[in-house]
Amino acid sequence: MSGELRVVVGDITKVAVDIIVNAANTTLLGGGGVDGAIHRAAGPELLAECRTLGGCATGDAKITKAYRLPARWVIHTPGPVYRDGQHGEPELLASCYRRAMELAAEKQVKSIAFPCISTGVYRFPAENAAKIAISTVKSALDLCSGDLTVIFCCFSEKDAKIYEKTLKNG
Ligand code: ADP
Repeated sequence: MSGELRVVVGDITKVAVDIIVNAANTTLLGGGGVDGAIHRAAGPELLAECRTLGGCATGDAKITKAYRLPARWVIHTPGPVYRDGQHGEPELLASCYRRAMELAAEKQVKSIAFPCISTGVYRFPAENAAKIAISTVKSALDLCSGDLTVIFCCFSEKDAKIYEKTLKNG
């Protein structure tokens, strides 16, 4: 299948796509950063649905409705906490993107937006995280039938530049 990869700077809660991805924690009960922003914007019904899911393992993903968000669905995926890169962090981060793409393929959607998973409080180095995000998404595109637009929604210009550069350099 074909797909388009795009980089935008902004707040993921405002992006009008079919699915937004949440850099969640393993409880799925909300937190700071992008997780807090998504729960605030979606409203309390999101937390109520998340309570029924029984948490989620690092590197796995679960899908819910998006309630008051412009998106239709939210995929919640807990990224790894970065220690030194020798504790499976790259593989776990790749797994977050892969599992999210698998769930998106099941829903047969046209668009999905990802935040820079694990690169905030979980401290994954941004350049390496961008490489993993882009290569994993590219290789997962063939799971999806039809065209899928994938948006990397960066919260800072700095992150967006890293993504643009990584996309250009393959
Ligand atoms: P993690 O715990 O996975 O590191 P964080 O939420 O701390 O998650 O950070 C992940 C990324 O999300 C960071 O790049 C941060 O700047 C970004 N971020 C924070 N709020 C938003 C938002 N509203 N929209 C998009 N990205 C956001």
